[in-house]
Amino acid sequence: MNTIETEVDVLVIGGGTAGPMAAVKAKQANPALRVLLLEKANVKRSGAISMGMDGLNNAVLPGHATPEQYVREITIANDGIVNQKTVMAYAANSHAMVEELDRWGVKFEKDETGDYAVKKVHHMGSYVLPMPEGHDIKKVLYRQLKRTRVEITNRLVATRLLTHEGPNGRVVAGAMAFDCRTADFHVIRAKSVVLACGAAGRLGLPASGYLFGTYENPTNAGDGYSMAYHAGAELSGIECFQINPLIKDYNGPACAYVTGPFGGYTTNAQGQRFIECDYWSGQMMWEFYRELQGGNGPVFLKLDHLAEETISQIETILHTNERPSRGRFHAGRGTDYRERMVEMHISEIGLCSGHSASGVWVNERAQTTVRGLHSAGDMACVPHNYMLGAFVYGKLAGESSAEFCATHDFAPVDAGQVAAERARVQAPLLRANGLPPSQVEFKLRRMVNDYLQPPKVTKKMEIGLERFEAIREDLGQLQARDPHELMRALEVHAIRDCAEMAARASLFRTESRWGLYHARVDHPETNDTDWRVHAQLHKAADGRMACFKRAIEPYIVPIDATDSSAYSRLRIPEAAEA
Ligand SMILES: Cc1cc2nc3c(=O)[nH]c(=O)nc-3n(C[C@H](O)[C@H](O)[C@H](O)COP(=O)(O)OP(=O)(O)OC[C@H]3O[C@@H](n4cnc5c(N)ncnc54)[C@H](O)[C@@H]3O)c2cc1C
Repeated sequence: MNTIETEVDVLVIGGGTAGPMAAVKAKQANPALRVLLLEKANVKRSGAISMGMDGLNNAVLPGHATPEQYVREITIANDGIVNQKTVMAYAANSHAMVEELDRWGVKFEKDETGDYAVKKVHHMGSYVLPMPEGHDIKKVLYRQLKRTRVEITNRLVATRLLTHEGPNGRVVAGAMAFDCRTADFHVIRAKSVVLACGAAGRLGLPASGYLFGTYENPTNAGDGYSMAYHAGAELSGIECFQINPLIKDYNGPACAYVTGPFGGYTTNAQGQRFIECDYWSGQMMWEFYRELQGGNGPVFLKLDHLAEETISQIETILHTNERPSRGRFHAGRGTDYRERMVEMHISEIGLCSGHSASGVWVNERAQTTVRGLHSAGDMACVPHNYMLGAFVYGKLAGESSAEFCATHDFAPVDAGQVAAERARVQAPLLRANGLPPSQVEFKLRRMVNDYLQPPKVTKKMEIGLERFEAIREDLGQLQARDPHELMRALEVHAIRDCAEMAARASLFRTESRWGLYHARVDHPETNDTDWRVHAQLHKAADGRMACFKRAIEPYIVPIDATDSSAYSRLRIPEAAEA
């Protein structure tokens, strides 16, 4: 294992959605900076938008919605637990970002006047902007990376951040990584770092039992959450799990957002609507779960009442864009939208701020609690941020990183941190006999399902914590036969960290909130008196994982009492009595 040392001004880790934008914006802010984009896969096709995207879930566009309306909607959808300033920073930059992506060549649906053709899917406002030809988005980003001369390394897996205790507190000093083709160990010094490693998508085990058959892009194993945690950054809302509606046995969304504006909707087995709105929230997932469990299940996406030309249009979007395999899957099952409803299910649990609220704590400039360290996209805590939020926060992170470089030099690299990490990374390759990473991962994620899947039970989560502690010993016996398997071994370390975070944060918040995301059987009520706060998690001075409360900043957009419970009134009563 060779050790390769590099020095850059800005290091961006994760080349999916937020990462490329951060790199481009840092370079545009100061073209003289050396900006490196580091990706474990290949930037040309990596991340959640690898094949394209069907639409923007949350565009805030003039004439359709105001930033204040959006902040109100997300505050309510997230049961009041938001730092509104961060949501406002997204909303205020949303329109300019859509226009910039449009200029770069991303195709959005427009009406005959050239205005963006925004649709209503959320409970209150209109924010969904379809992208029926959204398959070129990665190509568009790649062109910008080349144009701005961002340096790119593919196949490098970041494992830990370098930090330094400076006079003004902890500061980032770079990161360590290894090459999953050669196993070379990389020490990358940087003045500023952006973490954009996506969701923790390999936490729960999907119903298929297949390790990589996750809702999330499977290279997003939770490495970002783990790296931020070990660097001492604060994380937030980890107990607000991600659980999404899926097509049964297919690891993609049923796309009620795409079909809703055409007249499609979610129903129970009787073909009856049971929720007023298909926008994904914990409250919506709770109603979905109740229907699945309650004898009216399974749940379906209903399209068979639509006209032929409408269904053809839906097929063109859903079968060619974000998930081209979807048409083949339905053909194999004999599901024709014209004749049969599409059976749905719920996904495995994960951590994701893009869809729910769990992530690294950031302010409205994408700065974490470690100086010089930024985070953006699904792993940064800005609730319900989705793809456009990843772009906006990527931009904010890139600009803030460039600014940080202007006033800060390199922090010293701690040789002890490098030696310890090199030994940890190399160990599975040196072991002649040991445990295959896939086996340990399967065991760990099966335990996650058994003990953490909502509705959450205190005793189960306590047992889960014991099991995750025991799996720590398995980590010391992992064996990798080649550099690729080494990546899998190190991912299991990160998944274990995320499992422990999920259990500890869930035990900490002794109430129920966010519908299914944090439904606690032995604390069924929402308790605003004690828990209208952020639940934070960090590595304490003694090296242990600890949780604490952080007060919610005063709202900048007031919420009235009637609106605040709007997302708790999604169930259509008639269907409940049927
Ligand atoms: C199935 C699906 C459908 C979606 N549909 C929509 C939609 O229709 N509309 C919408 O607005 N949003 C949608 N989203 C959400 C949106 O795609 C995400 O919010 C957004 O793409 C997240 O961007 P990101 O940069 O945080 O993560 P990603 O784009 O996933 O990028 C993370 C990158 O980090 C890399 N990485 C991870 N760990 C490491 C490491 N240790 N070292 C180096 N690199 C690493 C990964 O390989 C990956 O390339 C969808 C998401 C999914 C999963």
